[in-house]
Amino acid sequence: MQTYEQELQQAKEFLLKHDDYLIVSHVQPDGDAVSSTVAVGWLLSRLGKKFTMMNEGVIPNRMKSLWHAEYIINMSEQPPQRTFTNVICVDCADFERVGRTKQYFTEDAAIVNIDHHPTNNRYGAINVVYPEAAATAEILFDLLNLFDIEWDIDVATAVYTGLLTDTGGFRYSNTSPKVMNIASTLLSYGVNGPKIAEYLLEEMTLPQLKVLVQALNTLHITSDGKVAWVHITPQHMIDSGAVSEDLEGIVNYPRNIQGVEVGILFKQLNNGAVKVSMRSAGKVNVAALAQSFGGGGHVRAAGFRLEGDLEDIMSKVVEQVRRAL
Ligand code: AMP
Ligand code: MN
Ligand code: MN
Repeated sequence: MQTYEQELQQAKEFLLKHDDYLIVSHVQPDGDAVSSTVAVGWLLSRLGKKFTMMNEGVIPNRMKSLWHAEYIINMSEQPPQRTFTNVICVDCADFERVGRTKQYFTEDAAIVNIDHHPTNNRYGAINVVYPEAAATAEILFDLLNLFDIEWDIDVATAVYTGLLTDTGGFRYSNTSPKVMNIASTLLSYGVNGPKIAEYLLEEMTLPQLKVLVQALNTLHITSDGKVAWVHITPQHMIDSGAVSEDLEGIVNYPRNIQGVEVGILFKQLNNGAVKVSMRSAGKVNVAALAQSFGGGGHVRAAGFRLEGDLEDIMSKVVEQVRRAL
């Protein structure tokens, strides 16, 4: 077993040795996924390397101001005409998380897997997997520091954004002393912390508020008060005018009820599948639960997708959570 430092070193050597990289993150990318994608892109640009950034779907509007985020190819809209041999996957707990972008990896592609999920199964040729990191962006902070390049405000803002979003604004239990030290360093590079927090965590669009109201109207809680859940249907999305990224954070509402151990958001997708997000107050390991349903994540924040009827899935999942309590 290699140490974290050795893994970082291997990634560094790989990046220096090759050229023409593909950088991908997980489907329905969050703040950490986009930040990590552009941070790797920024590093490669400083190294004078050619690179392409890609995701299966759309980049959240709120992330579009990050450095070169507008160049992240949405492969569903602009399918690339070629494949890649050198692939860097960021914030992807398992290979399936890259979604359909894997169509553009060559058979013999060398994958660098950079991630912080404890459920990561080390699917890369090179794996920089560090579950102690609050965000993949934290690992990128360490990686970038191994190179002889000067930080600028663009990359500092990206890394700060990944840290901010994956720690829920420096509040969750993953907010380690190291996270605060890194944040402090990034602020000293000129990052505008309050502005980013206002924009990403405070400000809401009207559709976002409307879809929150609709979700809260579906609130259910078990008789012992320990499991609470809400759901969203495609009709809710239409009625509110909300987009996928507007659901970020809704799962915290059932979770934040006093006495609740696990909060769940069920999002019914257009194709009938259901995306399940789980948050734990600490007693229940939701990563293990999510893994038993084919997903993954962190001890206190995890998710998965199931095919089937919404009501069936809700009762099945709630039952499993109750058993885990
Ligand atoms: P979410 O509920 O989508 O905000 O995700 C919570 C955490 O679980 C994040 O760290 C995700 O990367 C992870 N996660 C969500 N869905 C999956 C999945 N299907 N497979 C593996 N990890 C997931
Ligand atoms: Mn993520
Ligand atoms: Mn992450």
